[in-house]
Order: sequence, then C-alpha cells, then structure tokens
Amino acid sequence: MANTNCQTHGPQKATFVCVHAVDTLYDRRPRGFHWTSVDDEDPCGWCEECHERYLAAGEEWVGEAEAKLDAKLLCIDCFRSLIRLNGFN
Ligand SMILES: [Zn+2]
Ligand SMILES: [Zn+2]
Repeated sequence: MANTNCQTHGPQKATFVCVHAVDTLYDRRPRGFHWTSVDDEDPCGWCEECHERYLAAGEEWVGEAEAKLDAKLLCIDCFRSLIRLNGFN
C-alpha cells in the first residue's frame, strides 16, 4: 500500500485521481466522480468526462482515455472530500 504526506492531512494512504477531479478540490465545482472502493489498496477516482472516454474505449484505460486521465496522487482524506464535493456520501 502506497502512502503520501498530504499538506493538509499529513501522512495518509495514497490514492490516484484524474487531474480534472483534482481541480474540484480547489474550485469546488463538481465534475462528477467515479471511484473504486475506498477500501482498495490503491483507490482510484476519475471525473465524468474521463468516464465517458473510458466507456468509449471499451471500458479500458487505453488510448485517449488513458492519455487524458493524467492521474495525480491524493491522500485518502482528500479523496473522501472529493466524493462529498461531488454530492455523494
Ligand atoms: Zn478526468
Ligand atoms: Zn489530504
């Protein structure tokens, strides 16, 4: 399991989130959010537009879907904030 040292939350479990969903942490504008379970070893999340590219690629992270994901490392608390900012619990 990967760890990260978050500027806000300190040492935490690491997650990977598309660059667009990360923007929501800063501007608080929901972009939709799809994610694997927060209990996964390395949880991943992505925005609605990435999800549409993922579906178009046959539900695989290949080609344009993968290229535009540009995943960033986030701590699990920031990940949970993103879930809430997008209107999920
Ligand atoms: Zn995205
Ligand atoms: Zn954090």
